[in-house]
Amino acid sequence: MSRHKILVLPGDGIGPEIVAEAEKVLDVLASYHGLDITVEHGLIGGAAIDKTGTPLPDVSLEKARKADAILLGAVGGPKWEPLDISIRPEKGLLKIRAELELFANLRPALTAPQLVSASTLRSEVVSGLDLMIVRELTGGIYFGQPRGIRELDNGEKQGFNTLVYSESEIRRIGRVAFESALKRNRRVCSVDKANVLEVTQLWRDVMTEMSQEYPEVELTHMYVDNAAMQLVRAPKQFDVMVTTNMFGDILSDLASMLTGSIGMLPSASLDEEGKGMYEPIHGSAPDIAGQNMANPLATILSVAMLLRYSLGETEQADRVEKAVDRVLEGGYRTADIYSEGTKKVSTSEMGDAVATALKGFK
Ligand code: NAD
Repeated sequence: MSRHKILVLPGDGIGPEIVAEAEKVLDVLASYHGLDITVEHGLIGGAAIDKTGTPLPDVSLEKARKADAILLGAVGGPKWEPLDISIRPEKGLLKIRAELELFANLRPALTAPQLVSASTLRSEVVSGLDLMIVRELTGGIYFGQPRGIRELDNGEKQGFNTLVYSESEIRRIGRVAFESALKRNRRVCSVDKANVLEVTQLWRDVMTEMSQEYPEVELTHMYVDNAAMQLVRAPKQFDVMVTTNMFGDILSDLASMLTGSIGMLPSASLDEEGKGMYEPIHGSAPDIAGQNMANPLATILSVAMLLRYSLGETEQADRVEKAVDRVLEGGYRTADIYSEGTKKVSTSEMGDAVATALKGFK
């Protein structure tokens, strides 16, 4: 039996294309560098709806429970938008995160030196950026009850959702943020809207209380509107940012553009034991799906996170990150990060370039 079991869930849109490139990387690690893995595949999202009528079939969830780590492409697309919200592709994603209690979402935003000019911001603002966004993933307004659309007495419709966090939920994500900061530059910025929302006043109180346990870490607080502004104005002031599910969703997409492209950013979603699901932060990009032009690097870098955080294969993770660096150094660029003087390549050519670089390492 192999040491590690990985479940691959390609999903929809560009999902299957980018995941195929990530699998090339896993294949090279297995055949050239002794990585001992078994890879299984499963259905999720629209692809699962088309075949089984549900966005997360039980068999996929069962495989996910048995796996050591999960690699996901992306889910969703216009084809499934007319469906009721309760059975849309995105529900499959929310369900797997909730069922596996993947409450901690780590989203590093690192600007590769070779891509400084691909950002829409001035190079002195983004060059050297190394930020970790820690987003709470299984609570908050995306999961809170009650929720729905109801009809009022006057016949008007009213939509409602509930933003709710308990102390224990805040504490466990706080711990992930403080522990991450200890391995980095020892600063945590907790992002809330405590001036308006009571639930995030509690968030702020719990973070402040927890900081007593981490005297080596400097804790600051920032309102989310200011945080959005500061991320664009001076992003290098941040080390670790910790925030709620919805604020983290929005701020991490914003942060992706500091690095040049949403196609560059990986993520890890972890449970309390470090088991995790790994995916690029972007969606299924229906506008470019099927054209072999998506950037697979966020997914390949998600493989590096998978190796590091869930499999404990630090050396293999280093190899993958080094190979991506080598390929960028060699001037290979997919359309989203292309600039004059570099080589424009397709999704599969980018994957091949990373695989070739990996083969060359000791
Ligand atoms: P998106 O992230 O799919 O795309 C936003 C823009 O970024 C598009 O112009 C797209 O072409 C570009 N882009 C994204 N990934 C890219 C890559 N790897 N290389 C090059 N360009 C890339 O967001 P969206 O358009 O708002 O959503 C599309 C679908 O994806 C929706 O159905 C949405 O619900 C779903 N979605 C899924 C996830 C997920 O699976 N985790 C996350 C976000 C959105």
